[in-house]
Amino acid sequence: MAPKSDDSRSFTVPEVRVTREEKRMFELKAALYSGSTESLIREAVSQFKGETPVISCRCGQVMKRVKRTKEYEFDVAGEKYVVKVYNVPAHECACGTITFDLMFLAKLEEVIGDEVLYRLNSRQPLPEEIDLYDLLLAE
Ligand SMILES: [Zn+2]
Repeated sequence: MAPKSDDSRSFTVPEVRVTREEKRMFELKAALYSGSTESLIREAVSQFKGETPVISCRCGQVMKRVKRTKEYEFDVAGEKYVVKVYNVPAHECACGTITFDLMFLAKLEEVIGDEVLYRLNSRQPLPEEIDLYDLLLAE
């Protein structure tokens, strides 16, 4: 479905199949607290604070949740362009092993790439540093 406005920053998120009970709860909560299903979804997403899972290292020890900086390289008009992203969740073990969630990194790279493209197309300055906290509005 196309966005209602011609704002190129406006999108429709994928539809989600739910059970009858979930649908009922969804409609009741929207009516009771948010006024509309759209505002319930917005509120729920902005308030949601998740945690990365607890994982064990190959050496057997439980890994610590840490934040690291990742750099993403893009090719802009034949020039190498780097965006630093701060506070990317990772897991670190006492043995020195650091691991990232590869599915998340792929999604993050896609999101950063979209932002770079958007700014190029709208002739805005390209981001050099992005704090993941700002993107997630999380602590
Ligand atoms: Zn280890």
